[in-house]
Amino acid sequence: MSRSEKWDYLIVGQGIAGTLLAHFLTRAGFRILVVDKPHRSASSMKAAGIINPITGRRYAKSWMIGQLLPFAKKTYLELEQEFNIRIWQDRNLLRALPSIQDENEWWRRSAFPDFAPWFASEADLAGFEGILKPVRAWGETIGAAQVNFPALLNAFRDRLLKEKSILEEEFDFDKLSFEEGNPVYDAMPFKGVIFCEGARAVKNPWFNYLPFVPTKGEYLVVKIPGVRFPKMVKNGVTIVPLGGERFWVGASSRFEYDDDLPSPEQKEWLLNRLVKALQVPFEVLTHEAAIRPTVFDIRPFIGRHPDGNGLFIFNGLGTKGASLAPYFARHFTSHLVEGTPLLKEVDIVRFEDRYNGPG
Ligand SMILES: Cc1cc2nc3c(=O)[nH]c(=O)nc-3n(C[C@H](O)[C@H](O)[C@H](O)COP(=O)(O)OP(=O)(O)OC[C@H]3O[C@@H](n4cnc5c(N)ncnc54)[C@H](O)[C@@H]3O)c2cc1C
Repeated sequence: MSRSEKWDYLIVGQGIAGTLLAHFLTRAGFRILVVDKPHRSASSMKAAGIINPITGRRYAKSWMIGQLLPFAKKTYLELEQEFNIRIWQDRNLLRALPSIQDENEWWRRSAFPDFAPWFASEADLAGFEGILKPVRAWGETIGAAQVNFPALLNAFRDRLLKEKSILEEEFDFDKLSFEEGNPVYDAMPFKGVIFCEGARAVKNPWFNYLPFVPTKGEYLVVKIPGVRFPKMVKNGVTIVPLGGERFWVGASSRFEYDDDLPSPEQKEWLLNRLVKALQVPFEVLTHEAAIRPTVFDIRPFIGRHPDGNGLFIFNGLGTKGASLAPYFARHFTSHLVEGTPLLKEVDIVRFEDRYNGPG
């Protein structure tokens, strides 16, 4: 097979979006080439991978969680088998309820029949004695989980490398052209080029008309000597077990920032909150930052470019890549393979009136 006949789709970016889309498209029988250059600001390799069904100050049910979570679990468990690695971890989440209003709202929500399955009747703090600072009350979310993005992304990349189906380089827009309505990249024709660039999509001349509102997030990895616990804890910051005595602690969220580097102010903010949450000493191992592909209307950006030129996007996973990516990678695959319509909340057709040509 010649170089020019080899591939069906080119996927740009191998974060969780590009990885899962490559997975489902390959499973549907397509030949996929990936272009990815790791960037410091890319978020999947830094995310805690939390799936939390009950979120926000009002303890709202996360959008579509009843469909997203079971499908995410099924997908990640299948990938565990395929790669013989550990990706999925069921982890309940303990949540501090510092005021009477928080406590009332928590229990009010727990009484709704469609919320009840996610709420433990009582928070179980066994094993946390002497570790967490006392708070007024705790709630416990059942059915939360943690997804090990780095394990999955690294295993998937190793396979792409072995199969010679990845170009480890920056995508070069000067090498993109069009022949008879189809994209050609570096002399290779494709049925489509699918951009999964995360927050770097703001630099994409074809899709920068979409209302991305990227946010910078910073977190710490700490060692808490002598401490191990299996649950996640949310009290000012979220503390997520990474194995042994190591814990992920985060994350800050900033709309305005000058660079993608960890900042002393945000480190201070994280440390203050962690000191307020823990009774035990800890040691900071690393402090990191990344940029989330957050968007104006908090719904994924999926679909084809308005020019009908064979360019597509799968992005806008925001703060919820772990739960959104599996379901919507499959949803998008069905759209590409069988022509099933995209859900209108995620289809980028909703922003078509913003497009005035590439630039
Ligand atoms: C601190 C922090 C904590 C988070 N915690 C969670 C969490 O607990 N749970 C959760 O669900 N989500 C979390 N998120 C959000 C989550 O990380 C994102 O939703 C998700 O990872 C986005 O994945 P993506 O594949 O769209 O983008 P990315 O992960 O950014 O991947 C894009 C990839 O494309 C590459 N790329 C981009 N442009 C080019 C180009 N021109 N050429 C070549 N390669 C390119 C990048 O280098 C990268 O490899 C967190 C984010 C941050 C920052």
